[in-house]
Amino acid sequence: MDIYLTNTLTKKKDIFKPLKEKEVSMYSCGPTVYKDATIGNMRTNIFQDVLRRMLEYNGYKVKQVMNITDVGHLVSDGDEGEDKMVKSAKEEHKTPKEIAEHYTKLFFDDLKDLNIEMPEIICKATDYIQEMLEYVEKLVEKGYAYETSTAIYFDVSKLDEYGILSGINLEEQKSGARIEVDPEKKNPYDFALWIKAPENHLMKWDSPWGPSYPGWHIECSAMSRKHLGEEFDIHTGGIDLIPTHHENEIAQSKGLTGKIPARYWIHGEYLLIDGGKMSKSLGNVYLLKDIKEKGYDPLVYKLFCYTASYRNKLNFTWEGIESTSKALERMRIGYKTHKNGTDKIEAQDKENLKQIEENFHKAINDDMNMTLAVSYVWEAIKYPKKLKEVSELLEKMDTVLGIEINKEINSNKQENMEQDIPEEIKDLIEQRQKAREEKNWQESDRIRDLIKEKGYLVKDTKEGMKIEKG
Ligand code: AMP
Ligand code: ZN
Repeated sequence: MDIYLTNTLTKKKDIFKPLKEKEVSMYSCGPTVYKDATIGNMRTNIFQDVLRRMLEYNGYKVKQVMNITDVGHLVSDGDEGEDKMVKSAKEEHKTPKEIAEHYTKLFFDDLKDLNIEMPEIICKATDYIQEMLEYVEKLVEKGYAYETSTAIYFDVSKLDEYGILSGINLEEQKSGARIEVDPEKKNPYDFALWIKAPENHLMKWDSPWGPSYPGWHIECSAMSRKHLGEEFDIHTGGIDLIPTHHENEIAQSKGLTGKIPARYWIHGEYLLIDGGKMSKSLGNVYLLKDIKEKGYDPLVYKLFCYTASYRNKLNFTWEGIESTSKALERMRIGYKTHKNGTDKIEAQDKENLKQIEENFHKAINDDMNMTLAVSYVWEAIKYPKKLKEVSELLEKMDTVLGIEINKEINSNKQENMEQDIPEEIKDLIEQRQKAREEKNWQESDRIRDLIKEKGYLVKDTKEGMKIEKG
């Protein structure tokens, strides 16, 4: 079955054809490990995980490389300000290495909690200084870079084209729209490949230009080239990376090899909080830890991310987490009910399940349409006969969802839900729950009465809602 991906490079949904027949090479821009990863950062990691799981579902072997930036990412993406690692080290009275180790571990803990498959290769920038230095030296040799008193800059005017990902128009920029910070830069969009270290700088290496350190963009170019070669299949990251980091990676590769390194550039949109950006000043920066501390399974957050396309903004709310938590619970109960099911499968059932599976497969292959894919998971769960074949199908779907659909559920909840409540009643319970979340008490009471008419009693207790045969 064909796979389609929205490619930022071509600005359309492209059919996916990898360079090798059965293998996909993929580079994902990883975190700068100077602070806690937020649930926003994790949304990007979740979309990257779904991408690799979808490829695996289609029978591809995936070779994914992810970097850990532990040097060279300056406070502003426009090469200004302090190195984020150094700033954080000073604030926390630790060494940059200690900072990097601490936040890298927390990042990996989050990936584990979210059941995110580990990339085949994880590379730390400070382990590749030699490769980066060689890359920059070659760019200087080829005339693509120049030295100033503070850095080695990439000269974007040397390329026949700069800005293909984001559509930057260099001519317009030359007319002086942007205020220049470094007067030694030849063009506004020139960016630092290598930065000369001020005296007493905490991280620096010897180079032909004295003690210095790499720029953020060269790290990914050097490490992807080292592990995946000059051309690979997919490059991923958050949407904010398009106009700076990824544009500059392309510039560096074009300077060195004449090629755009990846053929498919896939970008994930932002997670919003209360309809806006997460920010410390608004006190709405959430970590996965906060979701866990409220008693939720972290995989609830993963399932929550599937309520929107990775290409659309998604608004985080606690109400959304609460209803997704209930949904995950019902999925797991549904899975178990089918697993223990004793109904006999017939030819028509086989046909129906095959159709559900095919629809699911089409949905994930269509640019990872997880919202649609999840609707087929529900269709399987609500399958009228209780069949172990349905539980097998759900397990297969879960290789993409990664939500541990077969996880054991708390027996109380199970008893409460498992007493053979018909699907129709379960749907009404869900609708009532939604009405309650929206504080639409009239609607919630109306549905409760309807449920009562159908022979079931709904009770709202301290431990949550209970349902009994009336
Ligand atoms: P930061 O640590 O804020 O520089 O973010 C690291 C990367 O995580 C960014 O380059 C984005 O690609 C991604 N990211 C940050 N915030 C969000 C968000 N709210 N939603 C989705 N991705 C995000
Ligand atoms: Zn990168």
